[in-house]
Amino acid sequence: MILIYRGVGGVSDPITSQIRTHMKATKQPGFATRAIHHGQEPDPLTGAVTVPIYATSTYVQQGIGEHKGYEYSRVSNPTRTRLEQNLASLEGGIAAPVFASGMAAIHAVATMLKAGDHVVCGNDLYGGTPRLFNQVLTGFGLEFSYVDTSDANNVERALRKNTRMVYVETPTNPLMRLSDLAAIGKICRRKNAQLVVDNTFMSPYFQQPIALGADLVVHSTTKFLNGHSDGLGGVVVCTRPEQAEKLAFLQKAVGAILSPFECWLVLRGVKTLAARMEIHGRSGRVVADFLAQHKKVKQVFYPGLPDHPQHELAKRQMSGFGAMITFETGSLKNANRMLKKLSVCSLGESLGGVETLISHPATMTHAALGEKGRKAIGLTDGLVRISVGIEDVNDILEDLDQALAAI
Ligand SMILES: *Cc1c(COP(=O)(O)O)cnc(C)c1O
Repeated sequence: MILIYRGVGGVSDPITSQIRTHMKATKQPGFATRAIHHGQEPDPLTGAVTVPIYATSTYVQQGIGEHKGYEYSRVSNPTRTRLEQNLASLEGGIAAPVFASGMAAIHAVATMLKAGDHVVCGNDLYGGTPRLFNQVLTGFGLEFSYVDTSDANNVERALRKNTRMVYVETPTNPLMRLSDLAAIGKICRRKNAQLVVDNTFMSPYFQQPIALGADLVVHSTTKFLNGHSDGLGGVVVCTRPEQAEKLAFLQKAVGAILSPFECWLVLRGVKTLAARMEIHGRSGRVVADFLAQHKKVKQVFYPGLPDHPQHELAKRQMSGFGAMITFETGSLKNANRMLKKLSVCSLGESLGGVETLISHPATMTHAALGEKGRKAIGLTDGLVRISVGIEDVNDILEDLDQALAAI
């Protein structure tokens, strides 16, 4: 029987119909049900409703080569297995190896390539990603080019004979530019390049890149998937067995795996993903509308606003608009004046937690790009990025209003 998901508090959103369509197509339980139950079945030994934390490095064997599928926890651990099953289900993949952080996951993806391979990347990625690519991996013979992937033609033009991967974030961080995943996916298939999508900003609740043509999906689970700002982690969701085998090998060979306790935190966090994302998305729209009408705010970047240049693509490609908003305060001085006044919202790195987090991209996430690099993509010193939390939205609005009065 197929249950109809109605959303939290009866909010009727495009998400509802999209999830319904998805469920009909896949004949699976709905997203929120899978988040709570898939891989999170009661413990067969005791009936415990939460997955136990298997704090063990090794496993007793019954004889040479005789064991219950677990030999050593760098290779596999039951708590980790459960999380990997859960996240694979939520993204519509076949496996989802988890790593010690988002960066460790992205590193694992890149090390699936070999020296001499080329990657086409978005030019407006999370700052740590180009840092890893340019300052670490070029030293091992990988080549990277950066293009504005909001125009799929730019991807096509940047492809070379040795291009093996196209790496995109949509929406981008912090300028909220979208890339048309279906269009880029088609180009990649034609040219035999794997499409990798960092889906951290939207979470699988609002965006399903695999359904649109992605070959691999990465996340910093540190953000919305965990959702409580209490642990780092990363995941790579696979669509093909050879990818899963290679990444499992990299977990074993490199060892940047997620610990059982951190896995448990994500398993706990992900149970409320659907509920949290509904509120994040609803409050995100309210905050974006408020900022768009505020006279101290010069520009708002949010795909849910009708004047966002890719609003139509946003409606087509995502089932909600998320909680990430960037806005222009005019100058570094204005940004600092405002940020110093915040009380409900916190100034800090990161995003996707239950608490509203505000960051200053030019000096935080995108400092490594340098002034020239930032200028090239239009990332100004006055930009402020907000990850709208699930506090009472009126308190968030009031806090922003009093902080903006300082400009
Ligand atoms: C935070 C983040 C990362 C890096 O993840 P960590 O868990 O901090 O290593 C990668 N991509 C995006 C979009 C992020 O927001």
